[in-house]
Amino acid sequence: MRLRNKPWAKDKIAENPQYVVPNPAEYKGNWKEVFGSENPLHIEVGTGKGQFLVGMAKQNPHINYIGIEMYESVILSALERLIEEELPNLKLLNVDANQLSEFFAKNDVDRVYLNFSDPWPKKRHAKRRLTYKTFLSMYENLLVDGGEIHFKTDNQELFEYSLTSFSEYGLLLKYISLDLHKSDFEGNVMTEYEEKFSQKGSRIYRCEVKYLN
Ligand code: SAM
Repeated sequence: MRLRNKPWAKDKIAENPQYVVPNPAEYKGNWKEVFGSENPLHIEVGTGKGQFLVGMAKQNPHINYIGIEMYESVILSALERLIEEELPNLKLLNVDANQLSEFFAKNDVDRVYLNFSDPWPKKRHAKRRLTYKTFLSMYENLLVDGGEIHFKTDNQELFEYSLTSFSEYGLLLKYISLDLHKSDFEGNVMTEYEEKFSQKGSRIYRCEVKYLN
């Protein structure tokens, strides 16, 4: 993702605590209180500019969503979308995914979405991939029993690596598509990257995996 410095991002984020939750560690184990509802919680790790979660939150008003994005200048775009749409079931966290266990307790989350995660192609950077085993362990510690990860990417190497990583971790492979846009999968909400890459002719890979507790 190309990062443009936006010095006003920090102030705009601070001015909108109803959308970008400040001090998220305070809500660990208590996210239902933040949304004021008992609805399931789905999070997207590496949410980018928020197109996917805004679409999902509109499509599924009875599910609560949290987008996790570490860069202020990127989450600003998601915030601007959210201000426009005023969706009560979508919040954002401006944090690094490496720290998720500070913000979520076991059973807080019902599903994790990973969309077009950075591929980190060099072998020595494998630990940074959001589907590396330490991340899978972290997701397990915040998900409900039987919780799921839904993953999309245009990167064949990352997809193959992730399928192996999921399988070695003991996750159940529930669904797999090697060409999502030519499949019969219904209700797909496109991410920014998905739109960009599919317009260039890239094929999109998608899978759903489940923790067997
Ligand atoms: N999901 C969006 C999409 O599909 O259009 C954005 C994809 S972009 C390639 C990956 C995003 O993940 C970037 O915005 C990046 O800043 C974010 N990201 C990567 N590693 C992260 C981490 N450890 N914590 C939070 N966000 C992260």
